Amino acid sequence: MPEGDVIWSTARRLHEALAGQVLIRSDFRVPKFATVDLREQLVTEVVSRGKHLLIRTGDGLTVHTHLKMEGFWRVRAVRPGAHSAESAKLRLLLVNAQWEAAGYSLGVTEVIRTADEESVVGHLGPDLLGPDWDPALAVSRLARDPDQPIGTALLDQRNLAGLGNVYVSELLFLRGLDPARPVGSIKDLRAVVDLGHRLLDANKARPGHVTTGDTRRGMENWVYGRGGRPCRRCGTRIKKGEQGPAGEERLRFWCPNCQL
Ligand SMILES: [Zn+2]
Repeated sequence: MPEGDVIWSTARRLHEALAGQVLIRSDFRVPKFATVDLREQLVTEVVSRGKHLLIRTGDGLTVHTHLKMEGFWRVRAVRPGAHSAESAKLRLLLVNAQWEAAGYSLGVTEVIRTADEESVVGHLGPDLLGPDWDPALAVSRLARDPDQPIGTALLDQRNLAGLGNVYVSELLFLRGLDPARPVGSIKDLRAVVDLGHRLLDANKARPGHVTTGDTRRGMENWVYGRGGRPCRRCGTRIKKGEQGPAGEERLRFWCPNCQL
């Protein structure tokens, strides 16, 4: 599951390629929208909301996509005579005179009226990378269910939008909190939320999810992906386990000595 910083940088790349230009071709490879044609529509902007991408047109339409587990976008320059990006994984192609944006394996691909965007993103908590990021609201949303484990509550996009497994594991290590700790037992939720914002913000314009300050390969994280290996701080073996509601379990990594 991609982290919010990946969605943010994807939205920026798509905005740079598409915004302010008229589409000369669109191709939806999902049955429900196969007949939609956005030719001659002006793309006005591309924005991210948590992990959702919204591509808006001057005619009041929004192409709503979500990467879910395996989705990704590729943007490439249109070259005369070159074939466009063909693949069984292709879900959507948007082309203007200069650029071709291709969405692959997208978990959601749909066209809605821009006026109805609330129906697809209205449930989200404050967006960690949004222009209207509201840490106090995120804290109050988290605090609604004091018995919930903090590791699960931070992943719930209705509380705050943008964190995935990597940042939740890293954030809880940096705050010294066991992912199983009930939300209600944590005194300084604001510090947790603020650190989540800083980590995403620091990584949004670069590849990777660096939380240690060390960008060398294999050195980027404290605990994520390091199950069974020694903690970088105390040497204790990092634990790995699953957490979350049945059917939605997510991987957790934590140091049983540093995180209580
Ligand atoms: Zn440790």
